[in-house]
Amino acid sequence: MKISHIEHIGIAVKNLEESIKYYEDILGLKCYGIEEVKDQKVKTAFFKVGQTKIELLETTDPEGPIGKFIDKKGEGIHHIAFATDNLSEALKEVEEKGIQLIDKSPRKGAEGLNIAFLHPKSTGSVLTELCENNSEENK
Ligand code: ZN
Repeated sequence: MKISHIEHIGIAVKNLEESIKYYEDILGLKCYGIEEVKDQKVKTAFFKVGQTKIELLETTDPEGPIGKFIDKKGEGIHHIAFATDNLSEALKEVEEKGIQLIDKSPRKGAEGLNIAFLHPKSTGSVLTELCENNSEENK
């Protein structure tokens, strides 16, 4: 597998609007997109920091993955996402190496990216997302 960069860092927040203020007013970043990912029961807000993004995640359902995460651990860093050139191949490769997968095959995440999660049990407790790098500028 070839990882080109950190695609984004996912941060669980209780209130998207409130958190956006911090990133915009204090850090001076610009939120360029808000999107609901029904599948994951989240509303996301994106900021670009160089080639990497910050993805804020607010749950739309207390029983969703972000709702449960905040319940257990509070707000904070939720996952790290790496960009790779061929996601299906990468998943096959890590599974062969004994990594437990949450997603056995790629699915659609925010921004139309193909994504898959690796289980934190296999990754030193860091929830890890692999994203397929489908943008020419990032290659
Ligand atoms: Zn993500």
